[in-house]
Amino acid sequence: MDRVHMPVNQVDNPTAQAGERFLGQMLFIKDDRLQEAPTVRSLVRPMLPVDRQAPCEHLIQRFLSEPAIYALPVVDDAGCPVALVDRKRFVEFFTKPFSKELFGRQGIVDFLAGNHYHAPAPVIIEDCCSVEDAAQILIASGIEHMVTGFIVTHDGLYAGVANGHDLLNLITQRKQAELYYLAHYDHLTGVPNRVLLADRISQACREAERSGSQVALLFIDVDRFKQINDSLGHRVGDAVLRALVGRFKAVARKMDTVARIGGDEFMLLMENLATPESADMLAGRLVDAMRQPVEVLGHSLIVTVSIGIAIYPRDDSDVSRLMAKADAAMYEAKAKGRNGFRIYSDGTATFNPARLSLENDLRRALANDELYLAFQPQVEIASGQPRGVEALLRWNHPQRGPISPLEFIPLAEETGLIVQLGAWVMRQAFAQMAAWKSVGLPTLRMAINISAVQFHHGDFAELLARALAEFDIDPTLVELELTESVLMHNVEEVLDNLRRIKTLGVMLAIDDFGTGFSSLNYLRRFPIDRLKIDQSFIRDITRTPANASITKAIIALADSLSLDVVAEGIEDSVENDYLNELGCQEGQGYYFARPLNTAQVAEWLAGRGADSA
Ligand code: C2E
Ligand code: MG
Ligand code: MG
Repeated sequence: MDRVHMPVNQVDNPTAQAGERFLGQMLFIKDDRLQEAPTVRSLVRPMLPVDRQAPCEHLIQRFLSEPAIYALPVVDDAGCPVALVDRKRFVEFFTKPFSKELFGRQGIVDFLAGNHYHAPAPVIIEDCCSVEDAAQILIASGIEHMVTGFIVTHDGLYAGVANGHDLLNLITQRKQAELYYLAHYDHLTGVPNRVLLADRISQACREAERSGSQVALLFIDVDRFKQINDSLGHRVGDAVLRALVGRFKAVARKMDTVARIGGDEFMLLMENLATPESADMLAGRLVDAMRQPVEVLGHSLIVTVSIGIAIYPRDDSDVSRLMAKADAAMYEAKAKGRNGFRIYSDGTATFNPARLSLENDLRRALANDELYLAFQPQVEIASGQPRGVEALLRWNHPQRGPISPLEFIPLAEETGLIVQLGAWVMRQAFAQMAAWKSVGLPTLRMAINISAVQFHHGDFAELLARALAEFDIDPTLVELELTESVLMHNVEEVLDNLRRIKTLGVMLAIDDFGTGFSSLNYLRRFPIDRLKIDQSFIRDITRTPANASITKAIIALADSLSLDVVAEGIEDSVENDYLNELGCQEGQGYYFARPLNTAQVAEWLAGRGADSA
């Protein structure tokens, strides 16, 4: 509907001609549908005997003298609304002759100036508008009192009272519809919101149970949306979200529901599936559809999405848990490099659906002392001597208790908070080394995890050099654990950074080795000191031949390149002995010790009778 609303101010010039003034301030409604909507005339049903001779003025007199009458709506007998007078607010459906008859040239001014009006700002509506529009304008005017009767006038004379229930009902229905819309639809994109979606999912699950079919939930998150918003502004951000909804709908089946559940998060509900594979296919098509740039407001943007899939009833039968699992799978897709989809599995770390608040909490965690480091020993397998510790970040959330780094590190990476967090971890680890040294604890190497975002941000080597100097740390006792993904970026730049770090004397290890895009090439080119065999290969190493051969191959590879190896996740003596046989130098895992706090490290060392190497 194309409406031009001109604000109507309080009448401030007593000499102005009322009619002319209001004409100039009409609220115009242009809508073709008006033709079909019922007009006030069709609703007029006389209820009281009509005194055709009573002038309008008398009605107004009655209104003024009877405080029990809150408001008087007035229509003329051609069915046109001519006036609505309310004690709090004056609303006029404007017709010039009526106004003139009623108030005279100066009358309206006196009328409004009287103490019957607390907010004497008339709202003026074009004459002969439909009931629909009268209702809409009344709602918008914020009129406080609803009336159930119309005073019908003819040529400015009282013509009786008509039933106004229909108008009232219409207003009520409109309001209800408006409230329903606000509560169930996303204002920006017009698609269902979280509330309506949850409802539809429940329905879909009930239906699936009856028919033996399945339901898929696709949790879609826009990658790096914050950057779009921050660099191009909210208008572009909003336009991108609207464009994405269009794209999602185009790829989805007609019967699927696309919903926006917050910021840059969407969900796609697929009902009535014969097999979960159709959900995977749709997710693949969604990712593909993002290859085309999004054209908005003169910008051509490549926008990618990360998608997580959960299936009812396979993954959960509870709607909110199912949504949380799709969210968790989406998060895994992000952690695996974004622009792709993941299917929920038992191995997917589940996250709290209130991730947004987690982000805020994490920002405060540093200041509130909720973070600390745990240290997990690394041991020489052949001798059982402690050689080092790995610093592992811990978060003790005031309400939720301990939160796993597997949950909050990806979040910190996504939001960029990792740069600050990582710097804190480094300084904290160095402070601990200095403290241990001062109390004469055996010298241990300190391994620190460095995330890709942190490594590529600013001048990392410089930051490291300054921290080493500040705490007076022997750099050969520091080892940075990098994942293969860190190294896969711009090779020349990475190489340059690694060389500068090596010049400081710091050691470099590749964490979770074997799980990434291992390439012999970079192993040869990069100045690496140690490989950490990922714990997934150590698990069941004596019973899973594939794991045993991979581990053997990694040890042989390290040997040929003169690299050290440490095996992660050794949980029992059988694994330990087997790795010893394979010639693995060091190990880390629950078999030796769980991650320990500072006091426990001292106890553990004392219990081992560690030498002061
Ligand atoms: P990671 O660097 O591979 O750390 C090893 C993880 O394996 C730790 O989990 C450790 O507690 C766990 N682990 C050690 N031995 C065993 C064992 O015998 N059995 C089993 N089942 N698990 C074992 P945690 O502390 O939950 O850390 C998980 C990941 O979080 C780390 O994996 C690392 O990628 C990341 N992380 C932790 N602290 C930091 C940090 O300060 N900075 C960065 N960027 N990442 C961190
Ligand atoms: Mg590590
Ligand atoms: Mg690891």
